[in-house]
Amino acid sequence: MESSAPSRRLTRPVRLGQLVLGDGQPIRVQSMTNTDTRDVPATLSQIERLAAAGCEIVRLAVPDDQAAHALRAIRAGTCVPLVADIHFDHRLAVMAAEAGLDGLRINPGNIGGEQHVDTVVAAAKDKGLPIRIGVNSGSLEKHLLAKYGGPTPEALVESALGHVRMLEKRNFDQIKISLKSSSVPVTVAAYRLMSQRVDYPLHIGITEAGTLLRGAVKSSVGLGILLAEGIGDTLRVSLTHDPEAEMSVAWEILRSLSIRARGPEIISCPTCGRTEINLIGLAEEVEARLRHCDEVFTVAVMGCVVNGPGEAREADIGIAGGRNLGIVFRKGKVVRKIKGPDLMTGFMEEIEKFLEERQEE
Ligand code: SF4
Repeated sequence: MESSAPSRRLTRPVRLGQLVLGDGQPIRVQSMTNTDTRDVPATLSQIERLAAAGCEIVRLAVPDDQAAHALRAIRAGTCVPLVADIHFDHRLAVMAAEAGLDGLRINPGNIGGEQHVDTVVAAAKDKGLPIRIGVNSGSLEKHLLAKYGGPTPEALVESALGHVRMLEKRNFDQIKISLKSSSVPVTVAAYRLMSQRVDYPLHIGITEAGTLLRGAVKSSVGLGILLAEGIGDTLRVSLTHDPEAEMSVAWEILRSLSIRARGPEIISCPTCGRTEINLIGLAEEVEARLRHCDEVFTVAVMGCVVNGPGEAREADIGIAGGRNLGIVFRKGKVVRKIKGPDLMTGFMEEIEKFLEERQEE
């Protein structure tokens, strides 16, 4: 599916655990746990759920010493690449590096002076960790807010470049950058500017995007624009929701731009006056039953014979509704007609059969 994907802006490679970010490598999906990091079992359980849903990098908030002490046990319990998210306290960054985490998210300008920056950079170099500079419109430096009259794209970029310079001064170049705002236009403009200034990998996201629907729409618009322009090496969809939900949105964004695919693509019609089966229920149930499926294939769930069979034929497997029946197509051929009450079970049987037979091929 990558053939029609937007061409990527070239960034330098940055290693994060076993992954290489930037340099044309796959755009990685990440999220952040919302458990109490000090609660090791709960955090590990959420990390595993996130990974099962397609999360490739997990960030953990490390607000205090107790959370930092828990990192060693968390590290021992999972192979998923882990990034420690730290504000202000350089000691926590050193503890995270010593606990074996794969990366740090910390802004060197906010950790209390040059000496502390030296300490964090030395720890990151020693353990081979990258540092993500994460600038957020809600926590911009006062002098930049005054200079630019608010959290403008230019202010975000200038803030991030200030942090970058502190690392470069110490010959540290394993840097990733994020510039997040809850405004889509501001975020997009900031990343565009930054991508002209540096070639470090960019982690993209719309921060505080909102609840499930609104956040998904805002993230899709913002990240979609950036990705279509080739900007972004890792991404996060931030939702006021269970972080697992972020995965489906992130992967749908990547799929819709033909960048990467994970799991089935479900094409379904909007229904209209011609629909004679419970199409909405059927499409939702198919989606729910395939939620944990990693196989990449296309399923069409269509309401009628007007457009239905056409779409269903294009899909790997599809169903088109008729009068209280469904016609199942597989690779363009009718394979079964299912009566109304058995539509769901019959169609799922056909999907499972398709997947089994494909594995045998
Ligand atoms: Fe209506 Fe048929 Fe189109 Fe669905 S596929 S919206 S039922 S015309």
